[in-house]
Parts: sequence; C-alpha cells; structure tokens
Amino acid sequence: SGGVADAKNLRVKLVLLGDSGVGKSCIVLRFVRGQFDPTSKVTIGASFLSQTIALQDSTTVKFEIWDTAGQERYAALAPLYYRGAAVAVIVYDITSPETFNKAQYWVKELQKHGSPDIVMALVGNKADLQEKREVPTQDGIDYAEKNGMFFMETSAKTADNINQLKLLSDFHDLPQLD
Ligand code: GDP
Ligand code: MG
Repeated sequence: SGGVADAKNLRVKLVLLGDSGVGKSCIVLRFVRGQFDPTSKVTIGASFLSQTIALQDSTTVKFEIWDTAGQERYAALAPLYYRGAAVAVIVYDITSPETFNKAQYWVKELQKHGSPDIVMALVGNKADLQEKREVPTQDGIDYAEKNGMFFMETSAKTADNINQLKLLSDFHDLPQLD
C-alpha cells in the first residue's frame, strides 16, 4: 500500500453510498459502460465492477467499484465496503430532501470510521429532473464545502457530469490497494 508517484498502473477502491433509489447503480453503469437501463434491478447487498481508465501520461487507473445497496437492512455491512476505500461517492437524489439527509449521515459515518485520507464526493443525481427539484444546488455546494468534499450534480440518464467522476482527484496521490 501507499501511493507511488511514478507508478504506471494504479488501483483505486471506490465505494458508492447513499439511499436506495438515488441512482448509484445507474451511475456505475453509465461510468463503466456508457449505458443507462431504466429497468435496472435493485442492488442486493453490494455489487462489484471495475473500470480501467488511461490518463494522458500513460498511467492507467483501475477503479475497483463497490456499489452498495443502500437499504437499512444492509447498513451493518457498509464498513466492509468502505474499508480501505480511497474514494467515496455519496449520492443523493435532487428531487428528494430525505436522500440529502441520508447523504449527510454517510458523510458523518465516513468521517468517523472511514480511512482518514479518503477522498469524498457528494453527488446530487437525477439532475435531469429539474422541474421536480427539491434540493437546491447551493445546499449541496455549501454542505460539500463545509466538509471538504468534491461536489457535482449528475444525471445517469443523460450522462451529464458522469465523466467528472473520473477527475475526482489527483489519482497519483490516492492510496493504492495492495
Ligand atoms: P440505486 O438504488 O441507488 O442503485 O438506484 P438505481 O441506480 O437502481 O436507480 C433507481 C431508479 O432511479 C431507477 O428507476 C433509475 O432508472 C432511476 N434513475 C437513476 N438515475 C437517474 C437519473 O439520473 N435520472 C432519472 N430521471 N432517473 C434516474
Ligand atoms: Mg443499486
């Protein structure tokens, strides 16, 4: 473990957290395959995918992505998924204030129990549903700023900002998997 500045093949564990239904699995599908499946199934427990991306300096980054279920009954398992994660993407649905509250719960949980150098991003998904918006963009910005997180609003449906996830931080500085 421990990042090596000149490593050519980096491995980074990324975990997605957030309420059930906010679009975590759709974000992953969009990120990894460039697809959106409106009939996608509810995640049970957690699922694992990986995505390797090439950076301009011929470094590759292999994201090992843990997509968690979000249901209450799996909450006790969450530490298994975020343990050792370099990046946590905490997702809420901009049409649902409850999911924004739940996102804040996850931020606190990671601040208490996640690795101290974890990079966190707060993601307001379903940005295509502007007419149903109930969480102002500024609320997301303010919360993220206060907690030292990246912030973006995405749409897995339209692909808006999904590629921003690849730019979450300077990959060279992220803790590597063993
Ligand atoms: P998860 O439980 O967080 O993994 O949520 P899913 O990825 O299973 O998505 C839950 C529901 O939200 C599904 O019906 C998706 O089609 C829908 N959904 C996901 N992302 C978006 C989005 O960006 N825009 C819209 N309009 N619907 C979305
Ligand atoms: Mg899911």
